[in-house]
Amino acid sequence: MKRAAVIGAGFGGLALAIRLQSAGIATTVFEGRDKPGGRAYVWEREGFTFDGGPTVITDPDCLRELWQLTGHDMAADVDLMPVNPFYRLNWPDGTTFDYGNDTAALHREIARLSPGDIPGYESFLEYAAAVYREGYVRLGAVPFLDFSAMVKAAPGLMRQQAWRSVYSMVSHYIEDERLREAFSFHTLLVGGNPMTTSAIYALIHKLEQDGGVWWARGGTNQLIAGMVRHFERLGGTLRLSEPVAKIHILGDRVTELETEAGAHERFDAVASNGDIVHTYRTLLGHTHRGRREAKRLMSKRWSPSLFVVHFGVTGTWPGIPHHTILFGPRYKDLLKDIFDYGVLPQDFSIYLHHPTVTDPSLAPPGHSTFYALIPVAHRGKLPLDWEQVGPLLEKRVLDEVGRRLIPDIHDRIVTKFHYTPRDFTIDLNAYQGSAFSLEPLLTQSAWFRAHNRDDSLKNLYLVGAGTHPGAGIPGVVGSAKATAGLMLEDLA
Ligand SMILES: Cc1cc2nc3c(=O)[nH]c(=O)nc-3n(C[C@H](O)[C@H](O)[C@H](O)COP(=O)(O)OP(=O)(O)OC[C@H]3O[C@@H](n4cnc5c(N)ncnc54)[C@H](O)[C@@H]3O)c2cc1C
Repeated sequence: MKRAAVIGAGFGGLALAIRLQSAGIATTVFEGRDKPGGRAYVWEREGFTFDGGPTVITDPDCLRELWQLTGHDMAADVDLMPVNPFYRLNWPDGTTFDYGNDTAALHREIARLSPGDIPGYESFLEYAAAVYREGYVRLGAVPFLDFSAMVKAAPGLMRQQAWRSVYSMVSHYIEDERLREAFSFHTLLVGGNPMTTSAIYALIHKLEQDGGVWWARGGTNQLIAGMVRHFERLGGTLRLSEPVAKIHILGDRVTELETEAGAHERFDAVASNGDIVHTYRTLLGHTHRGRREAKRLMSKRWSPSLFVVHFGVTGTWPGIPHHTILFGPRYKDLLKDIFDYGVLPQDFSIYLHHPTVTDPSLAPPGHSTFYALIPVAHRGKLPLDWEQVGPLLEKRVLDEVGRRLIPDIHDRIVTKFHYTPRDFTIDLNAYQGSAFSLEPLLTQSAWFRAHNRDDSLKNLYLVGAGTHPGAGIPGVVGSAKATAGLMLEDLA
């Protein structure tokens, strides 16, 4: 039986491990932390469950496929609950916009803000459907190993005006500035600036409209737990608290892994789900290939980081939906501050996560769980001392949530903590503390991202946000499909 190792138990690593194990490859996952999930880590504090990362689950079919490979049913391990509205968008003047996939309700919402924009929205939806077919269905799980694959994909992408930004495309169809923000902010969920991210990413709109937005009962951690249960049921091995220190090579092949504890183990193939710079600079830093590739990747544009305040409060809040975006007074200029100038602005836009409105099991009875997230520049652009700044920023974020939604928030808090760019570096080996790896620019997509198989080391593979198609659960699960295809072909 052939043996494979996967370094890292993020969504991408686990999806790849399930695919390999399902195909009869004895697969071991080495995870550095004490729990699986990566960005989808979880904390339990004083009866509250705090999911660390992804909260908006889209395209559940890409996850179901992982069970269907062996004739299993995901529903036996994970209970997915629909979330509606998908998001409530809220502007400082009190305007709100509820966004979901009930067409009549969505039209009513658009009409409330700008009746003349309904035909334009319909045209935008057609555009989103076309880029979804091209960018997600056709190319979403294709490994771009050589430039010719890129050349083949180029005409389709150019037909969809992929060189334009999502915001520019939305603005082509929609006049109202608030609606432009409502239909372009989604790229932020995968680390992209709506002003510069390729219009191909408008596909997220179609992905949500068709597949819905979901929540795993018990939290995203329960989706991860279900993936682990399924992987182990198939005979796979997950080794927690076992960080890999080195990938050993001989000639053009990987031979064995060395863990930080000093254990050596041989594998026929190795895939890294860890950060791509960490993989090359640290795990392969003793090789010429590692040093050269790390240097190349470090010179690219990296996605911003995030500052997340987790808090549990007394009381329940049926009026606050599961997902709320509290826009600040600025949109374009705020994005410039985060993506280009690398400053910490006075104002911010907040994504507020309120899981207990869907699933009260995440808090003690009569209590609620929240997180408030703001994008911040990565550590390369904004080298702050986060241990000092963190508590101050936490207060400002909570004050703003208090001002807009929960007036006596400070009196209600039972427990709270925050997660900074520094934590992304320490916990996840994330280069510059980036929350989403490489920025999803056209010039950093597909072949221009890190390849699913290394160009020189024949049995070394990559999976996860740094590879094609990029960050987000559907993205990294798609990358696992592309990487698994290559590995199974090579191991046959
Ligand atoms: C706060 C936040 C909110 C988000 N919200 C959403 C959302 O709502 N919807 C959505 O679709 N996406 C969302 N995303 C994006 C999504 O979570 C990520 O793109 C995705 O989870 C990344 O998965 P990955 O496979 O790249 O692995 P990661 O999650 O990056 O995991 C990599 C794993 O590798 C391990 N590792 C690294 N180095 C080593 C080593 N040397 N040895 C052993 N293990 C190692 C790490 O510990 C980690 O567990 C969010 C991200 C964040 C941070």
